Amino acid sequence: MAATQKLSGCRLPPLPTIGEIIKLYNLKAQKQLSQNFLLDTRLTDKIVRQAGNLNNAHVCEVGPGPGGLTRSILKAGAADLLVVEKDMRFIPGLQLLSEAAPGRIRIAQGDILAYKLERRFPANITKTWEDDPPNLHIIGNLPFNVSTPLIIKWLEQMSNRTGIFMFGRTRLTLTFQKEVAEVDVGVVHFTPLAQPQIQQPFKLVEKIVKNAFQFRRKHCRRGLGMLFPESQRQELTEELLCSADVDPTLRPTEISISEFRALADAYSKLCNENQGLFDYDFREELKFKHQVKRQSDRSNQTELS
Ligand code: SAM
Repeated sequence: MAATQKLSGCRLPPLPTIGEIIKLYNLKAQKQLSQNFLLDTRLTDKIVRQAGNLNNAHVCEVGPGPGGLTRSILKAGAADLLVVEKDMRFIPGLQLLSEAAPGRIRIAQGDILAYKLERRFPANITKTWEDDPPNLHIIGNLPFNVSTPLIIKWLEQMSNRTGIFMFGRTRLTLTFQKEVAEVDVGVVHFTPLAQPQIQQPFKLVEKIVKNAFQFRRKHCRRGLGMLFPESQRQELTEELLCSADVDPTLRPTEISISEFRALADAYSKLCNENQGLFDYDFREELKFKHQVKRQSDRSNQTELS
């Protein structure tokens, strides 16, 4: 049943294949955790190659599941591999792998969205932000229901140089499902830039991007307009687009990075000139209008009866 697996610099004792691990521990993929497993070694090796040279690297793998990608990471020479898995059922299979590669795997059971990764790697691997990236990688075949909040969290940490980015420009190699990467399973490799393309706080950039994509099939004027209170919407939207020199009839997906930079700079200027503008949320205004309308409908009814 077992095939001998050879890891870089260390031959493992015979290990069951991933398919056999799944059968052995009865690891049915659970829909609510968006589980699907990579069983093809050629594919997992290919994904791991996208991360670059992993020899002697520190790696965190997100959601190792039955361990297909995990084996490829070890084969690529990672010296220290922290795996963070939410589902307890995978822990015994991962322990088996850990015994086969002594001292190279640390297993953590937890939710990656709340997990403090920065506490789990040694400070002496830290590089300055301007330096080359540290020998630390995040790799994962992400469950699609966590990929969006996770990537937003990491982008914010990247911008503030907190969390796993306290060690420097930590690289991420992640697979995304169709909706995010626009292919069946796409591998995306991120290396944070030493100089960000947009020099504005993360929350401000996030607000602009979110608003622009509010109505993704409409002209960007529509979504960007929601940055402003209804009473000044038309005037301030025009001012924003005009000072950023962005065509109001572009679709959100057609806006380039340099145009987003110009929009962020123009919006930041407007926020400085209009106190309270940054805290404006069109949903709150809508909610308030509905409440007022309901109250006036109720008092009209009382008067009639
Ligand atoms: N890496 C494995 C592979 O490629 O075969 C499994 C991939 S499967 C798409 C996603 C894995 O992430 C599952 O093992 C699931 O239990 C785990 N997972 C889901 N949500 C998680 C979370 N919030 N934190 C950590 N792991 C999570």
